[in-house]
Amino acid sequence: MTALPSIQEQNRIIPPQLDVPPRLLLGPGPSNVHPRVLTSLSLPPVGHLDPYFLQVMDEIQVLLRYAWQTDNPLTLAVSGTGSAAMEATLANVVEPGDVVLVGVMGYFGHRLVDMATRYGGDVRKLMKPWGEAFSLEELREGLETHRPAILALVHAETSTGVRQPLEEVGQLCREYNCLLLIDTVTSLGGVPIFLDHWGVDLAYSCSQKGLGCPPGASPFTMSPKALEKLQSRKTPVTNWYLDMSLLTKYWGEQRVYHHTAPINMYYALREALRVVAEEGLAARWQRHLENAQLLWKGLEEIGLVCHVAQEYRLPTLTTVRVPEGVDAKAVAQKLMKEYNLEVGLGLGELAGKVWRIGLMGYNSRPENVLLLLQALSQVLG
Ligand code: PLP
Repeated sequence: MTALPSIQEQNRIIPPQLDVPPRLLLGPGPSNVHPRVLTSLSLPPVGHLDPYFLQVMDEIQVLLRYAWQTDNPLTLAVSGTGSAAMEATLANVVEPGDVVLVGVMGYFGHRLVDMATRYGGDVRKLMKPWGEAFSLEELREGLETHRPAILALVHAETSTGVRQPLEEVGQLCREYNCLLLIDTVTSLGGVPIFLDHWGVDLAYSCSQKGLGCPPGASPFTMSPKALEKLQSRKTPVTNWYLDMSLLTKYWGEQRVYHHTAPINMYYALREALRVVAEEGLAARWQRHLENAQLLWKGLEEIGLVCHVAQEYRLPTLTTVRVPEGVDAKAVAQKLMKEYNLEVGLGLGELAGKVWRIGLMGYNSRPENVLLLLQALSQVLG
């Protein structure tokens, strides 16, 4: 037997035990996790094909259908963060050469463009200034000009705080025989969504915002019409991990091993969705709206201005303009250092121009709003 090489010791560090600071996460996400969800994370894992776990998966599917208001049989959680579920939507329906029309009104629209391009889509962009939403007429013009196979829109643009109205967009997409794909990462669990009523074909979200769960298991759904497109592909899905024709064999009746599910993350997502179901969507959406309104009023009272017109403002994420002469980053750092309070900085075009304040899921509470307003006015002097 040959001798083992000598063990390199330079990376053998013993860091101190974790001592996580008690942050109040009022930025764009992650947000603080519901205590019941945290508890569920420490339960013992079972096997990923254990009948107990399969039942957990089934319950997640049903609860996701409730949260999204859809009957889509193909509704599941992707093992990964929101970007994985985002990529899953495009990976499954975009075939090389498909025209994909993306409504870009912020940072995450650009990410959709990037991903759709990587899957070979013939990507066209509809552009809107950061802080505005598309009108139905603009979307109609876009469909008329580009005749896409897929229209992709961000329902809740986290970089700008804009809510894209979607009420009649599905109907429009039917007229133009195109699939409607939407990003609900910053809306699920906090802002009204009616996927089936709106005629949405593909949607994705995350766990760490309106659902009050850590990041790592991300909601995904596709309509029977989108599934038809997947089933009639001429080329296989080029991403093995996110291929729904394989994943549904694990989530569906066959129960075929695909990957080792992150068991505890799924316990957490199930608990988060159970909390949503207990509260009920109407009460939950109302709570988010009322706390956001409290924030907007308070910001105005301390002389700050919201970046987005009230009609299109997200209850989950508010962009606040940084006053002239104020260093946005220094303020955020001070809030963190002195109050253990996290707010987000502007992204992309809005870098240095806004702060981003999230009131999502478990964090959407009046006491958090009042604390933030007080801390912000102290720091701004
Ligand atoms: N889409 C939107 C609108 C987002 O806000 C985010 C993240 O904040 C993502 C996609 C990507 O999600 P994740 O960071 O969980 O991968």
